[in-house]
Amino acid sequence: MNIQNFINGQFVNPIQDDWLDNYCPANGEVYGKLPNSSAEDVEQAYQSAKSAFPGWSQTTLEERSRILIKISELLEANLQRFAEAESKDNGKPISLAKSIDIPRAASNFRFFGNAITQFASESHESIGQDAINYTLRQPIGVVGCISPWNLPLYLFTWKIAPAIAAGNCVVAKPSEVTPMTAFLLGDICNEAGLPKGVLNIVHGLGSTTGQAIIEHPEIKAISFTGGTETGAHIAKIAAPMFKKLSLELGGKNPNIIFADCNYDNMLETTINSSFANQGQICLCGSRLFIESPIYAKFKKDFVERVKKLKVGHPSDNSTDIGALVSKPHLEKILSYIEVAKKENGKILCGGNQVEVKGFENGYYLEPTVIEIETDDCRINQEEVFGPVVTIMPFNTEEEVLQMANKVKYGLSATIWTNDLKRTMRITNQIEAGIVWVNTWMLRDLRTPFGGMKASGVGREGGFEALRFFTEAKNVCIKY
Ligand code: NAD
Repeated sequence: MNIQNFINGQFVNPIQDDWLDNYCPANGEVYGKLPNSSAEDVEQAYQSAKSAFPGWSQTTLEERSRILIKISELLEANLQRFAEAESKDNGKPISLAKSIDIPRAASNFRFFGNAITQFASESHESIGQDAINYTLRQPIGVVGCISPWNLPLYLFTWKIAPAIAAGNCVVAKPSEVTPMTAFLLGDICNEAGLPKGVLNIVHGLGSTTGQAIIEHPEIKAISFTGGTETGAHIAKIAAPMFKKLSLELGGKNPNIIFADCNYDNMLETTINSSFANQGQICLCGSRLFIESPIYAKFKKDFVERVKKLKVGHPSDNSTDIGALVSKPHLEKILSYIEVAKKENGKILCGGNQVEVKGFENGYYLEPTVIEIETDDCRINQEEVFGPVVTIMPFNTEEEVLQMANKVKYGLSATIWTNDLKRTMRITNQIEAGIVWVNTWMLRDLRTPFGGMKASGVGREGGFEALRFFTEAKNVCIKY
């Protein structure tokens, strides 16, 4: 099936007739093509967005809200079709796409459809100066949204929904590795009555299509989620043009487990926080630090549980771990496992490619647990982004905090303890934008979402996202 760009409410081929192969990770086969859009296609998308802007930015909040909620309902009505498409494109189990990815994409539209009706301008009465200030929150104009392959529709819509809710028009690019559900979204937007040109979706490589979006002088803001290196590149291009930038980048998240935690709950959740979505979630905890008194027990129980995880075809309901997203990604992860071995990491389980019967060319890998003696090693400092975690014991709070903070990233952290004072001490000092205590991935869409250090700049979620996608204009009136 050939994917097309969605520009001005219509599906169109790329102007230069340049196409990329679209792979199915579960069997390694090419199952369609997608445009590798050029700067000309991006320009066409921009012109369409520009023409739509005067109308859309003046559309009442009630009407915008109604359309966004309608998109959400249509996604829910098409849950099975979207979940199957996401799974085929990405390799994730259909059950996961059906329970997490697509429902969350629908929630993104519903949430921002509601949030925009509550997003008020502020006012400040300047007492004693006979003046009042009020702050308008005006849409920026045409904005660019660029997303990665790990949670394709989920992260794509996490940007688009607030951007259009705030009255902007969008030129958006999903990952070239997982373009399918973004393509399917076009029809849903038309059916929901989103005016043509409000959302334009261009497909293609980062180096061609993505580059054209970030370089476009009239695309005034870029909301990007992806790798740290790409984020640095985008910042270099966008900063001298004074574009607004939101960068959600890589992570190497610590999972700190104290002996006083609720053990069973911790074990269950840690399996999930290590291997959900084949470990390809930016929030997965890939560095496990376990307090010494429970280290031996944890090691035994954890490895036993991991060995029971079933690697299999994404459409098989009993599959826990589906296929990795691409061959290059599988090779990258395998190379990291080799690096860990050279660094004296001890493979406690996994470490090998898996041949799934009937799908021998798919990109399957055993969930892998590596025991390390020191965290001063590449496997514990660099982002692997796959079903690979390290474990090591610690003795003191100071020691574990120091190790947790030693990486260049600062996206999320998970802490398992029932000691309130310790919770307060650690959460205050840990360098992460998102900290979970005795849970993982519990999301409230109103909360600020994003990382510090090399994990990014800015925050998404709730009013933070609506603020990002608007310009504040303060008006001071003397009376
Ligand atoms: P990536 O940086 O390779 O690509 C992300 C997107 O950027 C893709 O759409 C790609 O085509 C585009 N891109 C690449 N080069 C570009 C350029 N020069 N100009 C404009 N766009 C360009 O990342 P990926 O491999 O797709 O995703 C995995 C990474 O994303 C991991 O590092 C992961 O941690 C990160 N991630 C972060 C979050 C978060 O919220 N912080 C969430 C999910 C994933």
